[in-house]
Amino acid sequence: ATVSLDTIASLAKRRGFVFPGSEIYGGLANTWDFGPLGAEVKRNIKNAWWEFFIQRRDDMVGLDGGILLHPRVWEASGHVEEFHDPLVDCRNCKSRFRADTLLEERLKISVEGLSLEDMSRAIQEHQLACPVCGRRDWTPVRQFNLMFRTFIGPVEEQSTRVYLRPETAQAIFVDFKQVLQTSRVKIPFGVGQIGKAFRNEITPGNFIFRLLEFEQMEIEYFIRPESWPETFEHWLAEMASFLNWIGLGADRIRMREHGPEELSHYSRRTVDFEYSFPFGWKELCGLAYRTDYDLRRHQEFSGEDLTYFDQERNERFIPHVVEPTMGVERLFLALLVDAYHEEPAVDVNGKPYTRVVLRFHPRIAPYKAAVLPLMRKPELVERARDVAAMLRQHFMVDYDETQSIGRRYRRQDEIGTPYCITIDYETLEDRAVTIRDRDTMEQVRVPISRLVEELGQRLAA
Ligand code: ATP
Repeated sequence: ATVSLDTIASLAKRRGFVFPGSEIYGGLANTWDFGPLGAEVKRNIKNAWWEFFIQRRDDMVGLDGGILLHPRVWEASGHVEEFHDPLVDCRNCKSRFRADTLLEERLKISVEGLSLEDMSRAIQEHQLACPVCGRRDWTPVRQFNLMFRTFIGPVEEQSTRVYLRPETAQAIFVDFKQVLQTSRVKIPFGVGQIGKAFRNEITPGNFIFRLLEFEQMEIEYFIRPESWPETFEHWLAEMASFLNWIGLGADRIRMREHGPEELSHYSRRTVDFEYSFPFGWKELCGLAYRTDYDLRRHQEFSGEDLTYFDQERNERFIPHVVEPTMGVERLFLALLVDAYHEEPAVDVNGKPYTRVVLRFHPRIAPYKAAVLPLMRKPELVERARDVAAMLRQHFMVDYDETQSIGRRYRRQDEIGTPYCITIDYETLEDRAVTIRDRDTMEQVRVPISRLVEELGQRLAA
């Protein structure tokens, strides 16, 4: 049975993973802050991604492009023209919806190939009731561009109007020439980037699934045009093995091929990795074959030569790209849902209770270990603090001396800490501690002198 989104959101709030944004001011709808534990998880996701896709490969380099780019970039990329969703308003209660979602979810009509007029007509003909107020008085369907706009310098000045980037990819194309010139890369090679992206989504929601502001981890992998089919297969396999590497259950992931009508303006083939979220199978991340669309357009719009010279073949061409893209927060949500388990258990006093445990992969868990003195006695506390200080040189470690040991175990289970290390009176004599395994709840005794090594091995296993 899948956990409900409410359960996940309330655990996330209670334990400091995700807070509603600007809460002391009454909140700002659909914005979120990542608390102390959420910040760790996001860092772990991003570090894992960077290690897996950039550090461990000899054909990848990184980039950290700006959020603000020249406005022409978004004309060249097609985002000014194409990056919009169909919008419809209820005239009565002023609620605003994505017309395509309304048609698909309420009327079960496929929107593939429908024009704005077709959508307006379908809404009329089916007498669609507003999901909020129940009335049937709709505006015509119109396009709504998802890019956030802002200004550099005095607001009056037209020429300084810029967009917050809706995807990180474009900086990679814009800097393509400079990466070539400075890093001696040869095709095939990729450029990877992690950073914020912004989309003025009409219907954000489902907790942190669809956000206005989120982080993307994107790769543009540059290839010769004819090699795209096998490159595409390679990256499908790489993405699947990354998801597995960070502990996401394969049984809740499936691949879905985009139909011809569904493809974005730049793509010739797209496959989504979908995850079985509490609200259904939804896109987790995706792979797109963007052809040479972006480099060609930037060459045209900028007037710069963006070709690549293949020395072996003595040939000049515009590289094609295959693009694996992932959203940090969406992965975070999938990891939370995947990790969440409830199970019957018995506490240290023999009392039954429902154990809530986040079975995060150690790579993702915010704390790798928690150090717990059995009781709040000065001699135990002092030794426990020393142990925590020693471990902190190597891992993110929590330290907790409040409440009963049983409650402290429960807290660590609920935040997914793989190992609890207990310091008791015996420790003072034998210089050993107890390691409790989150998943098996087994306890073993380990000398303090071997603790770093023991934990390191267990976490890497
Ligand atoms: P959707 O169909 O859900 O709107 P998309 O197909 O527009 O998404 P892409 O443009 O392919 O998404 O973006 C790449 C990745 O960025 C997505 O797979 C997702 O993980 C993430 N992402 C996209 N939009 C959002 C958003 N509004 N909030 C959080 N993550 C997002």
